[in-house]
Amino acid sequence: MAVEQTLSIIKPDAVAKNVIGEIYSRFEKAGLTIVAARMMQLSREQAEGFYAVHKERPFFNDLVSFMISGPVMVQALEGEDAIAKNRELMGATNPKEAAPGTIRADFAVSIDENAVHGSDGADTAKQEIAYFFKPEEVCKRIR
Ligand code: UDP
Repeated sequence: MAVEQTLSIIKPDAVAKNVIGEIYSRFEKAGLTIVAARMMQLSREQAEGFYAVHKERPFFNDLVSFMISGPVMVQALEGEDAIAKNRELMGATNPKEAAPGTIRADFAVSIDENAVHGSDGADTAKQEIAYFFKPEEVCKRIR
């Protein structure tokens, strides 16, 4: 296993539920370290750019509207196997299919409002971290 970094977003529904700390605690208990973080109110342009890969999908406009409906908490997580580990903690995209005890099973209500985003591979992780953070904003972890 290699040490990796991944991008995580706590989406507006979970921020509104006041569970940022609860979700951070799950990251930390799983051995993931927060190495960059920013609370943001995304603009429409920022949300469209972030989800550009989905722009032809039928849910694109609703997804963008949801992502700008309130503040989000954006973080880079670092740790052994961080990309897969974060996806495991998140659970399936549709919370109804998410394994018990995952973030989406516990905090999300629907596939369109599903509490968290996590990068799905090494290339997207790099791109997505760079989308929100300058290199100098990603802190070095003390081991
Ligand atoms: N999404 C949606 N409706 C769908 C499929 C996806 O609103 O039918 C949204 C949902 O918020 C999801 C995001 O689009 O998290 C990105 O979809 P993806 O398939 O990449 O899922 P993820 O990687 O977030 O699990």
